Amino acid sequence: MGSYTPDTFGKPIKMKLFLPYAMLLLCLPAIAQEPPPSHAERAKTKNLFIITIDGFRWQEIFTGADPLLIANPQYVRDTMLARRLYWDSTAGERRKKLLPFFWSTIARDGRLYGNRLLGNKVNVRNFYKISYPGYNEIFTGHTDLFDSPNLPLENRHVNVLEYLNNSREFKGKVAVFTSWNVFPYILNEVRSGLPVNSGYEPLAQAGDPEAGLIDSVQGSMRRSKTRHDLLTFLTAKEFIEAHHPSVLFLGFGETDECAHTGRYDLYLQQAADIDRMIADLWYLVQTDPFYRDSTTFLITTDHGRGWKPNKWTTHGFWADGSGDIWMAVLGPDIVPAGEITTRGQVYQKQFAATIAELLGDPAAPGHPPGHPVNLPARMAAPLLAGQPQTTGR
Ligand SMILES: [Zn+2]
Repeated sequence: MGSYTPDTFGKPIKMKLFLPYAMLLLCLPAIAQEPPPSHAERAKTKNLFIITIDGFRWQEIFTGADPLLIANPQYVRDTMLARRLYWDSTAGERRKKLLPFFWSTIARDGRLYGNRLLGNKVNVRNFYKISYPGYNEIFTGHTDLFDSPNLPLENRHVNVLEYLNNSREFKGKVAVFTSWNVFPYILNEVRSGLPVNSGYEPLAQAGDPEAGLIDSVQGSMRRSKTRHDLLTFLTAKEFIEAHHPSVLFLGFGETDECAHTGRYDLYLQQAADIDRMIADLWYLVQTDPFYRDSTTFLITTDHGRGWKPNKWTTHGFWADGSGDIWMAVLGPDIVPAGEITTRGQVYQKQFAATIAELLGDPAAPGHPPGHPVNLPARMAAPLLAGQPQTTGR
């Protein structure tokens, strides 16, 4: 085509033009042999917020208010009003009414594991199915037997937050805020040196009028072992805005308290409040240049509860269903899939390793124990020919 004739290529000038391409062709095999980008190179997650909702069941996450419980005057003071707030005839609408953040934002941009109706399972591995062993499993990956499983005793296991806080990358950038006052023991604050604000411990930040206000409210509260979640949230939020921790654990506790007292109406109300608080936190994160598009949320629970209508108030090895839990994850490296509808099994003891992996494994080699949850990762680096779109991790 055109004015080129075969002998045109014989001219030295054309050979010169061709030479760089030939060189490039020779180099190609070397490029192809380069290893794919490591997790740390392709990951966008620089910050991780771990959020737990104590003793909150998978049943309410995936199907909303329980039909047998919301209509029972033994557990709900005003069944008519409770139904107006949280009821719909379909599970899909009920869960949206109860947890709008989970079923709008996380369902669109993240992943939700644990809908057992679809064969997708998340389970605790420890024998007890109560709080201390559950949080121990989440943060240390261990599932061992305890002499006194739910008492304020120093945990002998090193936890992943402690490892991160001792790493070069996250030193002094880890913070813990929880409602239940046993966390300083579960995370062994004395040994680990982690800053753990639990129960009604004041924030006490000199010169911060907001913190002073929160502390004065806390100081005037009637003390119990579990601080009001709203106060835990406000305390954490104040700290986040002032100090920008990279790794945050926020532990809500009142869902379990409401359930133990047999108040299903308050249990639902608390869950809806927590959904709202997590939404606020996600909004804060996504509108702060420090956190925006570089922060992942991992949300889960320490244990399930009894599945039988007369057993939902309790949990433990004696109450069937107490080992059945759930997990939600949302962030810049997470491939959105919403509710996971395929059969699968995840265990709570994988969370410690997952936490480390999401941050590029800066912890000590071989720690934490266990395999991370296989979360499909987005590829930030350009793809090389023949590589799959996502890699398991
Ligand atoms: Zn409990």
